[in-house]
This record gives sequence, structure tokens and C-alpha cells, in this order.
Amino acid sequence: MNQKILVQKFGGTSVGSPDRIRAVADICIETKEKENCGLVVIVSAMGDTTDDLISLMDQITDDPFDREVDMLLSTGEQISVALLTMALHKKGQKAISFTGWQAGIKTESIHSKARIKDIDTSRILEALKENKIVIITGFQGISEEKEITTLGRGGSDTSAVAIAAALKAERCDIYTDVDAVHTADPRIVKNTGKLKYITYNEMLELAARGAKVLHPRSVETAKSFNLPLRVRSSWEKNNVGTLIIKDTQMLEGKHGVTGVAIDLEQARLSIIGVADTPGISYKIFSKLAEKNISVDLIIQSISSHNLAEVDFTVKKSDLKKAKQILEETAKELNAKSITSDDSIAKISIVGAGMIDEAGIAAKMFETLGKNNINIQMISTGEIHISCIINESDAEKAINLIHDAFELHKLK
Ligand code: ASP
Ligand code: MG
Repeated sequence: MNQKILVQKFGGTSVGSPDRIRAVADICIETKEKENCGLVVIVSAMGDTTDDLISLMDQITDDPFDREVDMLLSTGEQISVALLTMALHKKGQKAISFTGWQAGIKTESIHSKARIKDIDTSRILEALKENKIVIITGFQGISEEKEITTLGRGGSDTSAVAIAAALKAERCDIYTDVDAVHTADPRIVKNTGKLKYITYNEMLELAARGAKVLHPRSVETAKSFNLPLRVRSSWEKNNVGTLIIKDTQMLEGKHGVTGVAIDLEQARLSIIGVADTPGISYKIFSKLAEKNISVDLIIQSISSHNLAEVDFTVKKSDLKKAKQILEETAKELNAKSITSDDSIAKISIVGAGMIDEAGIAAKMFETLGKNNINIQMISTGEIHISCIINESDAEKAINLIHDAFELHKLK
């Protein structure tokens, strides 16, 4: 097809009520007319529908088959696409709704966290040719065995980006309840800066460090297809939001620090008094890896008498399992003890220009130190610095650091 294609995605709150659905229909019609394009629209389940479905399920069983979970959860999006399409029809606009399988979205044969493998776009293209707006369910696809699969919570962003990439769309616009990517979570930090541009890598780092603007896999997919991705508000008219692009497309130079994020989902584990000999870390971490537990920060230090201490963080939801495994390892390695702490927070600053600018780490540590906030662990990368601190200091710390780097001035 020679016509330009745009993809839009509307999140759960954006389609949370009949009025909201009508407002979204207006945005779709306006875009199609103004941009003179083929328009494909991906929608999430209305409001809290997915959570409500989960709570219904919990009232039936605490041990559902994965297949049936996906069968249930995929229904939320089916409601939204049908209603949005009806709203478009009512306004005199040609449109058609598709479920994941009707739209040709083929995924791995894994339930509740499947990845998209391939999209057969023929049916979408056919409908576009008939000048219809194509409305597709987010969050779902179909496996080779013809089973309904879902992509993981928040996965509609990823559906949208994958469909946009497959259609070679000009851009994918993610309409949501925030007006832009901010320099910090506006619910925690007042006076945040709004970013006009951010790089894929910065967005990925921020997402991995607790910012919850986009599903991380959607950013990865956009990055690998070099697809411009825009986050914008479905409430404010003419809001341009934030454009997520490649490093080299940044016209105004990269920021030293672009944003600060806080992750409260981390827990710390320590194994104390293990022999300081080769292969110890391997033994500790391979056992965790076997059980699919991913480890974030790691510090190993020598205490005394050739005994080492290994500290690391895992997701809070993995803590129980990780602790059990570590207890077994501790016995095997003759370690003195293990400890755990789930009242920690990881505070991170992210910026693509960090490598070119001296003194950023020092400023972060100085800000925390001057304010009596103890740093338990530190990790650094090319475009991020993270510190583990006490959970009770988290909100204060993010505000102080946001101020210290004057992030309110960014735009
Ligand atoms: N409805 C799904 C969820 O709430 C997918 C999404 O909203 O992106 O997680
Ligand atoms: Mg949702």
C-alpha cells in the first residue's frame, strides 16, 4: 500500500467509559482526516477491567490453568474494540474491529507472557484499502497451536508497536493519561520537567528503573525497527507529548541527566561469611538463575580472614523463593548467615549525555550525603547511576535529586 499508515494506541483509562470511547472515536476521525492516512488503532481493556477479571478468577480458583487465564483476560480488549468500532460507525466513519488472531498476530506458545513472533498483515491491509479504520485488541495474539495468548500486563503498548513495525507505519502514537514523559513521576515530584524528546535507550533505562510510562518491550521493539514512538495525552487537544527516537536524531543535544526514577519493588539479600575463593559467585547466582530469578545489583566485598560477603537485590515478588535458595546455598558453602531486607528503594538517574559530562555521580552522592541519606549499594552504567537507599528516604531523595540537577528546567 502506498498510503501512509499511522498507528494509535489508547490505554485503559482513555477508553474507560462510553464518553471516553466517543472522545477517542473523535481523535481517530480527526487524525484520519488531517493526516490523510490509513489508520490502525490498538486499544486496551476499559479502565480496571483486567484487574476485575483477575479478581473474578480468584473467587473461583487459586490454581487456574494458564490457558484459561488467557482465555479470560483477553476478553477485556474485545469489549473495547467492539464499542470503539460502534462509536465510529455511529459517527458515520467506516471501521472494523479485529481480535488478535483476526489481525494475524502470531505469538510464542507461552501463556500470560508470550512474545509476538510474526504478524500476517494481509487482513489489516485489506480493510485499510476499503478505507476503514482498523481497530485491534491489544495484549493478545494466537499461538501456532491456535491458542489465545496474552503478552503480559501492560502489553497493549507492545502490540501497537509490533503492528506499527509490521505495517511500516510512519509513527506509533501511544495515547495515555499523562501529557508527556516527565523528568520524574509527577505524583511524587512537583514541578517536573516535560520532555519533548527522549532516546530509546533513556526510555528503556527509565522503564527498567521503575518509571511506568510504557511497557519496556514496546520501546525495545520500536528501537529495533527504528520506529518513532510518541507518548501523548488523550485528554488535551493538540498535546504533542514526547517523541522517542534514536540518539543520533536528537537535535538539541543529549542531556546529562534526563530523568530520575524510583523503584520500590526491590529487596536486598546478603550472604555473609563465605570463603573468598574462585567459583563462589557462580555457585550463588547459577542457582538463582536456574529458578528464573533475575538479580539486579550485586556487590561482593571481603570482610576479614578471607571471608567474603555478597549482597544483591532481586524483585520483591521473588524474595521468598530467592531466600529459600540462598539458605540452601549458604549451607552448602558453609556460610555464616544470610539476611534479607525488603524495605529498600532503588533511586536512579538516567541520561544519554552522562558519559560526556563529569561530576554527575559526585553530585548525586553529595546530594544524598548532605541530607543524611545513607547509600547502601551503588551501580553505574553508560547512561545510568543507581543507589540503593532506605525505603523511608525514597520520596525525599527523589525530590532532592530532581532539584539538584534542576530537572524542572528540561523540556
Ligand atoms: N489490559 C491489559 C492490562 O491491563 C493490557 C494493557 O492494558 O496494556 O494489563
Ligand atoms: Mg490496562
